[in-house]
Amino acid sequence: MAGLRELYQETILDHNKHPRNFGRLDGASHHAHGHNPLCGDRVDVYLQVEDDRVVDVAFEGDGCAISTASASIMTDVLKGRSLDEVHALFARFHELVTTDAELPEELGKLAVLAGVREFPTRVKCATLPWHTLEAALRNEADATTE
Ligand code: ZN
Repeated sequence: MAGLRELYQETILDHNKHPRNFGRLDGASHHAHGHNPLCGDRVDVYLQVEDDRVVDVAFEGDGCAISTASASIMTDVLKGRSLDEVHALFARFHELVTTDAELPEELGKLAVLAGVREFPTRVKCATLPWHTLEAALRNEADATTE
């Protein structure tokens, strides 16, 4: 397991250092701002949704390595997905980081964040970008995790 954990760690550090899809999305159809007071993470998520499909997604923000890597991986994974797939992925991702269940299937690179389940205070860092995304899709401007 140690080798796998190191690989996960490296992937998280890489996404933190070189976040994918970082920046504002001009003409976004959906946007929300998220804040995790526990850690101080802040993230803005932008989406371009057409015909119930995410055609583009981006984020910007200022947060810890876990929240930045999670947002980066999330945007990477969600581009091109239908909204039904997006909601289903969020449910599986939430299960991944909050339960002891075996890794749900079809998570792909999201699985690198499984390690946060051992650190309950970091779970909100990992889920903040997702809560912000869901808020944006509900046309809510703000997502603050309690
Ligand atoms: Zn954090």
